[in-house]
Amino acid sequence: MLDTTKNTTRLCRGCQGNNLFLAIDLGELPISNELLLERQENVELFPLALYMCADCSLGQVQDVVRPERLFRDYRYMSSMSSTFLAHAKSFCESMLDSGLIGTDDFVVEIASNDGYLLRNFQNLGIRVLGVEPAKNISSISESLGIPTLSEFFSADLAMKIRKENGPAKLIIANNVMAHVPDIRDFMKGLSILCDSETLISIENPSIVNILTENQFDTIYHEHYSYLSCKSVEHLASIYGLTLIDVELIAAHGGSNRYWISAKPQEKTQRLRESIRDEDLIGLSDPDKWENARQLTHDSINQLREWLLHVQQAGQLVLGYGAAAKASTLLNAAQVPRDLIPSICDRSPEKIGRYMPINNYEIIDFDRFIQMKPDHILVFPWNIEKEITEQIAPRLPDAQVWVAIPNLRRVK
Ligand SMILES: [Zn+2]
Repeated sequence: MLDTTKNTTRLCRGCQGNNLFLAIDLGELPISNELLLERQENVELFPLALYMCADCSLGQVQDVVRPERLFRDYRYMSSMSSTFLAHAKSFCESMLDSGLIGTDDFVVEIASNDGYLLRNFQNLGIRVLGVEPAKNISSISESLGIPTLSEFFSADLAMKIRKENGPAKLIIANNVMAHVPDIRDFMKGLSILCDSETLISIENPSIVNILTENQFDTIYHEHYSYLSCKSVEHLASIYGLTLIDVELIAAHGGSNRYWISAKPQEKTQRLRESIRDEDLIGLSDPDKWENARQLTHDSINQLREWLLHVQQAGQLVLGYGAAAKASTLLNAAQVPRDLIPSICDRSPEKIGRYMPINNYEIIDFDRFIQMKPDHILVFPWNIEKEITEQIAPRLPDAQVWVAIPNLRRVK
């Protein structure tokens, strides 16, 4: 029996308007983070198409799969990447250095993962609380002594947290709003945890990069929503909150860090400029997205042609990084298994599993080295440098490639 419900959303999840248009269509794909214990011929597929709201510039995938299905077996662990760890540490330090947070304050992080960010605050004696629905990951955080609720964040849960702990000085929600089906309830929950001094920091890949950098591989079923400054501004205003600033940061290949205040404040100049830029690039212009669809199509064809060419030359291509991006790219391009038989990953939880549809085997680093690939296709292009540095000393002759925005050799 399936535990899945398909919904066809006709209204914008943010502003609830009905002015949606098709932006990118990737066909029918498997759930990107669901890795198989053994080879399997038939896996469930779900349509994956990005729609844009012409009114508030929120992107959303139209056919949703319920979060209980998507996150029941979530294998992503932040602490596996040194780039993310450094990013988290510098974020905490800057909050203290700027005086926005003091040692008497209370910090809540939603989607706290294995506690990689909160432990920086906790080490400084600051009271923290994590919310992380994936039990296998929240238990790691708990075992490190970081108080963690293993539940989905909602307005109801926010009420409980507020009752037991009082308001938060800082609420962090990094790379989570995209994964929430009801983002209105989520924003309402944030507002419940606020008093007049609260700041909310929301980090998320910017939808602008899908349009301008061809980052279609960041579209997957787990990402219900694709945020922009305009959509966050609108959503915050519904619950009496004000978007006051945005920082453009390098994480995940170009993310926005939105700063929302419980107290009305002037927008910073860079926020005003970012909102203007979103209009200038045509984020809610169907013609601009038609160009993006063509680019996506072209880069998928380019990847397939290259893989066939390399195979005909008798050379081996292996993948690196069994991330969701890999699943979207390989399946949107319908890459047969004989073109990329295996994908290396450093996470013990992924090794030995198979990525659908074509049962790409996930192997450990030693086996990857033993197989002596001629070419390595790095899927998490956002941490390509870190990966190339790890690989290069062991496979000095291998060529390293990324496929986004276009196929390109990086070593
Ligand atoms: Zn909208």
